[in-house]
Amino acid sequence: MNYKTLADACQNLEETSSYLEKNKIIAKLLQETPGERLEMVVTLLLGRVFPAYVSQETGIGLQQLKKAVGQSTGYSKNKIEDLMEQLGDLGKVAEKLTKEKKQMTLADKTLKAKKVFQNLRKLPKITGEGSVDRKIKKISELLTAATPKEAKFIVRTVLGDLRIGVSEGRLRDAIAEAFDLSSEKVEHAYMLTTDYGKVAKAIAEKGEEGLKELDLTVGHPVNPMLAQRLETIDEILKRMNGRAAFEIKIDGIRIQPHKRENDIYLFTRRMEDYTHMFPDLEKSVRNSIKPRKAIVDGELVAINKETGKPMPFQEVLRRRRKYNIENLAEEIPVEIHLFDVLLSGNKTMIKEPYMERRKELEEIIKLGDRIKIVESKILEKTSEIQNFKSEAVHKGHEGLLAKNLKAAYRAGRREFSWLKLKAEVETLDLAVIGAFAGRGDRAGTYGSYLLAARDSETETLKTVTRVGSGFTDEELEHLTEKFGKLRVEEKPSNLDSEIEPDYWFKPQEVFEINYEEIQKSPNETHTSGYGLRFPRFVKIREDLDISSVDTVEDVAKLFEEQEKHQTSDN
Ligand code: AMP
Repeated sequence: MNYKTLADACQNLEETSSYLEKNKIIAKLLQETPGERLEMVVTLLLGRVFPAYVSQETGIGLQQLKKAVGQSTGYSKNKIEDLMEQLGDLGKVAEKLTKEKKQMTLADKTLKAKKVFQNLRKLPKITGEGSVDRKIKKISELLTAATPKEAKFIVRTVLGDLRIGVSEGRLRDAIAEAFDLSSEKVEHAYMLTTDYGKVAKAIAEKGEEGLKELDLTVGHPVNPMLAQRLETIDEILKRMNGRAAFEIKIDGIRIQPHKRENDIYLFTRRMEDYTHMFPDLEKSVRNSIKPRKAIVDGELVAINKETGKPMPFQEVLRRRRKYNIENLAEEIPVEIHLFDVLLSGNKTMIKEPYMERRKELEEIIKLGDRIKIVESKILEKTSEIQNFKSEAVHKGHEGLLAKNLKAAYRAGRREFSWLKLKAEVETLDLAVIGAFAGRGDRAGTYGSYLLAARDSETETLKTVTRVGSGFTDEELEHLTEKFGKLRVEEKPSNLDSEIEPDYWFKPQEVFEINYEEIQKSPNETHTSGYGLRFPRFVKIREDLDISSVDTVEDVAKLFEEQEKHQTSDN
């Protein structure tokens, strides 16, 4: 196939802005391209020489490319710089100068598309002394053999921007049009392979059957399955037919480890290859995955050595980029918490239901310091789910994910078979004004506390909730000791409460409280007029005094926002 065919199509694409017209141009090109050349053509149309997920740097920037244009056309650096000023695009500069030169030289040699593709693919492999010059020579060789139009598109390909408006979405539609299939089917195949080149080739060779045969390949990232969000546990249970697997939602970055013998790849949610960012994980991943080859799915998380809680991930990435990775690996250890398996040995797992995949995952993973499996509990009771969620939040995680026990792994889809439990609402800071004696396991401690908000008009405290969950055993003990010293015999005079706790405290300490929702006129009579559903202790605010406690008006405002949010979501 001559590169001219591709360059002509690119030119036509550059000249039209009509979506339909562009589709037609691409579809025609794809139909006319022999099957074995489709991967190449699709990759080049996207302005690339490797699929997006392959991290290969050509090592050639604008300055080096200017030199290549200079070498192939014989014009000076100054002339090229001047034209750059005028035209703003080195592609156009190359086109213009090639045209001027060509008027003086004899016949063109026909440039093959494969030659362009191969030469450009070699660039990352040219290393060592004098490599930049050798790379420039490789490009100028192509430019010398190119027509003006071809030169323009070669230069733009090296720059990674063809300026012809061909995105992945457009390619999907054009492939569908060229081979008379639905865009959904084409897209689904893409979700598995992340490579429209492969998809186009499979269809061209075997039609729709070819798509069915497309399989997961180690080293090719799969578009990760995503989660929908629902507001309440009840809604989640309803969607899941009363029962689901609940997993802790770990707060890190999505990571998809691949293994083939000794080769390890780590892909992100956007299917970038992050293997080089985490060399400290390669060995652990290799040793932990038992089969010879596999693709698993999980969350990469950095743990603060002192608190044992997850660290903000952006910070970890920033520091990894900036400092020596080796040292940082010691200082900020990272772990992978796995929650799914897509390929295990020769078994493709994505069509299997959650339960089967989970079983397989547990079988094929050898747990280690760096590689864990996310805890999963099959639950059906609201209270149990709420407790699990509190536990997760308390450990510093974001909440829970509910997973449909029967659902397959739907690559790239955000559907209702994975559900996020609503992100935490804004917390409230409330005054601790009393406590109830603990029973059972909690005997001898204060088992729950009575909390109040400030009424700024009357300068009184009005009750909002009692809270008995979210505490660790150590916290309960510590708080019992602390509040023992604040006990008063009578209800404090600035307190308005209809509830009579076992003990009254001098209003002095503040708790930060999490909850699922604010209720107006709750069953339990609170003098603020509001109550909290599923309140949970977050922490004692040592830094706040009673004057900073949230007001009843604050609670009312949050309630209003919540209502607005719920109606707009419905
Ligand atoms: P979100 O990014 O808010 O849409 O939530 C979905 C993300 O949560 C996934 O893409 C993962 O990165 C992350 N996540 C954390 N823990 C889990 C888990 N147990 N199962 C699935 N996804 C998880």
